[in-house]
Amino acid sequence: MDISVVISLYNEEESLQELTDGIRSVIEKMGVTYEIIMVNDGSTDSSWKKIKELSGSNNNIKGICFRRNYGKSAALYCGFEAAQGEVVITMDADLQDDPNEIPELFRMIKEDGYDLVSGWKKKRLDNKLSKNLPSKIYNATARKVTGIKLHDMNCGLKAYRNEVVKNIEVYGEMHRYIPYLAKNAGFSNIGEKVVQHHVRKFGKSKFGLDRFVNGYLDLISLWFLSRFGKKPMHFFGLVGSFTFLIGFVITIWLIIEKIVCQAQGLKFRAVTDQPLFYLALVALIIGVQLFLTGFLAELVSRNATERNSYHIRERI
Ligand code: UDP
Ligand code: MG
Repeated sequence: MDISVVISLYNEEESLQELTDGIRSVIEKMGVTYEIIMVNDGSTDSSWKKIKELSGSNNNIKGICFRRNYGKSAALYCGFEAAQGEVVITMDADLQDDPNEIPELFRMIKEDGYDLVSGWKKKRLDNKLSKNLPSKIYNATARKVTGIKLHDMNCGLKAYRNEVVKNIEVYGEMHRYIPYLAKNAGFSNIGEKVVQHHVRKFGKSKFGLDRFVNGYLDLISLWFLSRFGKKPMHFFGLVGSFTFLIGFVITIWLIIEKIVCQAQGLKFRAVTDQPLFYLALVALIIGVQLFLTGFLAELVSRNATERNSYHIRERI
């Protein structure tokens, strides 16, 4: 099979007919084999009924239905697991992504040899400053942290080589960082394509402003995991030792100062009357705690089932 289109959707009943019609007419013109996998993320409207209807009239359309709402990452994960096409394309279900981008995305994966091509909604039509400005800042941060030069990391419209989606595990709310997950799995040939973006025709956006707060937290987690996931002590041990050292040096200083003052008969304060003493105390305790956290983290990572899972490209 050539193309799998994976669509995660939550309460998008009005859009589904137009969406599948659009995708089908574009792909059928390309003359390739395809499947459309619709993952119903626990919709409370009649989306699933609609999907069953669509699937009944066209056997390229497949559906997965969650019992409850798990989130876009979970939906994509299951869609990826089921995808059989050589090229996997993800799209949002709200008609904001344009199916006419599919042929070029397909070509970029097949001919230009990209592992992943991400859409870039250069002209965003969400008509909300609350979305556009934070999104710019957020993408700039993501570029810095991940080292992937994408303008629109979280774009729903993306294309992947099949191998990529089978080698990454989207979980939590990590769908925002799939290119980063791919890069960490060794798929670094990541491209970008400017895509058309449309206004949302029906329903309303499922993500609020909290996406940015959570987005930042997830970015920090991923950064940490990719750098120190397999060797946490290198992080906690370093920071812990440094903090401990600060406390230790201050303590020595306090002791020497007191002895010197005493010996020369100068006036001196009790050690516990000095602010520095408390700084030293806090630094020593935190330093030791960080160190112990490092040991615990090592125990956790030693027990992780994937402690020895590597992405092997080929063997001869
Ligand atoms: N979505 C989902 N599960 C959720 C929330 C959203 O599958 O819990 C789907 C939603 O139906 C849509 C896509 O994710 O197909 C993108 O959502 P939305 O359009 O609300 O995001 P925005 O365009 O505002 O970034
Ligand atoms: Mg949308």
